[in-house]
Amino acid sequence: METLKDTLNLLYKLQQKDIEIFELKGKLKILPEIIVKKEKQITQVKDDFEIKKAEYVKLNSLKKEKEALLAIKEATIKKHTSDLNTIKANDMYKNCLLEIEKAKADKSALEDEILQLMEDIDKEVINLKKYEEDFKAKETALNKEIVEAKNIIEKAKENMVLMQQERDEFAKSIDKNVLSQYERIREGRDGQGLATIEGDSCSGCNMVLRPQLIVQATKCKELVYCDNCSRILFNNKDVQE
Ligand SMILES: [Zn+2]
Repeated sequence: METLKDTLNLLYKLQQKDIEIFELKGKLKILPEIIVKKEKQITQVKDDFEIKKAEYVKLNSLKKEKEALLAIKEATIKKHTSDLNTIKANDMYKNCLLEIEKAKADKSALEDEILQLMEDIDKEVINLKKYEEDFKAKETALNKEIVEAKNIIEKAKENMVLMQQERDEFAKSIDKNVLSQYERIREGRDGQGLATIEGDSCSGCNMVLRPQLIVQATKCKELVYCDNCSRILFNNKDVQE
């Protein structure tokens, strides 16, 4: 006839299965959160790259603006220079010369600015290439991690179904009364309704047990519960595996 010790030994094995299922459930809860985090990281690196790209575009349009201004200044110089041939009045002539000087000074300043911009743009082209490679490498790595996490989720879900089926099948071999107590206790206790005696403590809550409880649990004539966490106490020290 099956003794209580036999039953608790079966219950202990059932709990090993429950722990595995519980851990897998935890993993299944965390992984989608990790995926969302990685997707956000992809958006972030993409945004960072777009900002750098926009800076480059801005430099280029600034250069175009300066070049357009330069063309205007050149046209002004050309116009005033040809005006010089036709102007008769002395003060108008002087004025025209002054305009030419001013336009030449502006032109020179613009040329310097354009040269500086060209240098900046050249540097930015090199930087941008580096940024793009960096961004693409990060994006590829993150996407790979997401695919891996999704694969793990799929496998874990399949495993979960099988483990649950196997667990429920195994549970049928356990005394109904003990099983129902175990099921009730394990709710809200990390899925564990059974605790073993470790030294003089409960493995479930780590609290020191009354010596009397340890004696009763070792005798295994009736169900004994931890005073603190209410789990069924089981002394499995002389149990194999
Ligand atoms: Zn306890």
